[in-house]
Amino acid sequence: MQDIIDLFLNIRMRDIIDILIVACAFYKLFMLIRETRAEQLTKGIILLFIATKISEWIKLYTVYWILEKTMTVGILAILIVFQPELRRALEYLGRSRFFAKSFVEVKEETVNKVVDEIVDAVASLSRQKIGALIVIEKQTGLNEVVETGTRINGLVSSGLLINIFIPNTPLHDGAVVIKEDIVKAAGCFLPLTDNASLSKELGTRHRAALGISEKSDSLAIVVSEETGAISIADKGNLSRYLDAKTLKQILIELYKPNEQKQSFIGKWRRKDEQREEE
Ligand code: ATP
Ligand code: MG
Repeated sequence: MQDIIDLFLNIRMRDIIDILIVACAFYKLFMLIRETRAEQLTKGIILLFIATKISEWIKLYTVYWILEKTMTVGILAILIVFQPELRRALEYLGRSRFFAKSFVEVKEETVNKVVDEIVDAVASLSRQKIGALIVIEKQTGLNEVVETGTRINGLVSSGLLINIFIPNTPLHDGAVVIKEDIVKAAGCFLPLTDNASLSKELGTRHRAALGISEKSDSLAIVVSEETGAISIADKGNLSRYLDAKTLKQILIELYKPNEQKQSFIGKWRRKDEQREEE
């Protein structure tokens, strides 16, 4: 009893902070894995842990030995099985406000020019029903994607973008990656989304746009070859049938540093959903 009283008397501020941080971290982790496939796995591990402790306690040495070895392998297995989730969690941490800087270091006049060039190109491709896929890189680096294509490193211009997507030219297949005011590469291969609830009329171009918007914070613009429709994929959501004016507003909000970028796209998406219901 005296021990416990001593323990409480000796608690310092630092210990309280320590406990609070751990509690917060566990809470966040719990909220993150709730209702995902990690939930069952976590329950399994906790059960295994309890069984190990009990077998140690009641001295079932063989059972304890097996369970303990399983735990060691289990932890390794988690790292392998949840590699994509862990990676996403770390990327999410890196993107948090703490590290956030404006992703563009471009001046205001340049922003307007770059946005105009992109919108002009997309509008023209849409009129001519030329399929196109343009990814705008933000905080998450896309070098792995850029390496699958052909390096360009040229200033963004509508002429360059249109030229890239002209059918039957070497670079028209795949995606263009733009960072700030530079076209980094063309003909890049993007990861496809595994979202099974997508409409059947959306083919691989739209799935690739969604895929990259799920795996990074970048925004992807799609021009459909079949309909000429302009769509935007952002954070795993697809907004379809955009007009040039809406696209311009979305891009300006995207390029302008430190502003609430979500608002406009969010508003548009709601309109889009209403339209689909009609
Ligand atoms: P559209 O409305 O233009 O037909 P879609 O969504 O139906 O688009 P597809 O018809 O399958 O898509 O488009 C195929 C084109 O999409 C390919 O020729 C290629 O340029 C591009 N594409 C397909 N998959 C990828 C990928 N993983 N990464 C980049 N580009 C891709
Ligand atoms: Mg198609």
